[in-house]
Amino acid sequence: MFEEAFADEQHTICYSVKANSSLAILRLLAKMGAGFDIVSGGELERVRRASKAALKRVVFSGVGKQEWEIDAALQADILIFNVESEAELQLLAARAEALQVRARFALRVNPDVFAETHPYISTGLREHKFGIDIKIARRIYRSAAKYKWLDAAGVSVHIGSQIRAVDPFAAALARVAALVDELRSDGLNIRYVDAGGGLGIEYKDGEFDADDEVVRYAEALRGSAKQLKVHLLLEPGRFIVAQAGGLLTQVLYVKQNGSKTFVVTDAGMNDLIRPSLYQAHHEVLPVQQARSGAVSRMVDVVGPVCESGDFFARDRSLTSLKGGDLVLLLDAGAYGMSLSSNYNTRTRPAEVLVDGKEHLLIRRRERLSDLFAAEKLPRSKRSQANK
Ligand SMILES: *Cc1c(COP(=O)(O)O)cnc(C)c1O
Repeated sequence: MFEEAFADEQHTICYSVKANSSLAILRLLAKMGAGFDIVSGGELERVRRASKAALKRVVFSGVGKQEWEIDAALQADILIFNVESEAELQLLAARAEALQVRARFALRVNPDVFAETHPYISTGLREHKFGIDIKIARRIYRSAAKYKWLDAAGVSVHIGSQIRAVDPFAAALARVAALVDELRSDGLNIRYVDAGGGLGIEYKDGEFDADDEVVRYAEALRGSAKQLKVHLLLEPGRFIVAQAGGLLTQVLYVKQNGSKTFVVTDAGMNDLIRPSLYQAHHEVLPVQQARSGAVSRMVDVVGPVCESGDFFARDRSLTSLKGGDLVLLLDAGAYGMSLSSNYNTRTRPAEVLVDGKEHLLIRRRERLSDLFAAEKLPRSKRSQANK
């Protein structure tokens, strides 16, 4: 869908690895020609293991890149660094010189555009930690000219995630386009504009008008891109993988507390944290077809983790469930497994890739021994004294 919508533009889709970083998913996307947006040295290593050929299509974002991560990315000869501060630019220049390789960079500018989404995933306002104030970007590009190993190749922007209107994207890109004009008049050879990711999906039926969303998104960006004759970089994450994944869980117990009914599942917030973290909505689908005439009732679907915030759905009308039933939490393909943890010393589930009638285990269920592998017990005083 994305490829089609941007078919008329010179572009590369750099899938945002943090949305779902399974090696098998990365390899699938790499085979389709995708590049990758990474935010750590760990994600760089994931791309390398999924596809060495895709390293040249990597963009490296993030406010806190460490020296070893910059070195690894320089040595991998990635496409471009999205630099988020002056201090980072100086470090990049120093490392590029030390390694005697040219570093292509874009400044990630903060366009001060408001995008309606959850406050935790909005990033494009001046008060956010991301990017460089677009008002001072030109000065910083000028100051970068003195570094011989730096190549100011682009401008980048990313205003947030799960954004359901295209206007903020258009507004941000218009500001970027104005900056590109200025930079070119300063003599810089700007070839890339990175429009970031952030396109939302419909978690709840009828939440917004999702029809032709990508087409409208492409139209919103196209105006600026065409006029500038730049190569457009796009960093979608959620939009590519969210609806491709579900979390399958089994009902353990159904319990009544006062007037409330709780359906307790064997998956918890450690497996899918979006409802707890962002008050996000996920549809809950009983796997067995409801018997005709089955009654629905209002329930909370909750996990076993020792936190009141451990819930998947509140006051949801579901056909009656009992222990042993399977339910599917929809749209868990993005920011599900990649945001999971072992909180409460819980092993994480297996991941299965499904294609029509075929399926493939792409991550085995975690074992308790995996969880203890990195830990060490201090030797007790007494056993030392006995030696
Ligand atoms: C998280 C992130 C993305 C992807 O966001 P989605 O909402 O999943 O499309 C893209 N670019 C950057 C810099 C990000 O931090």
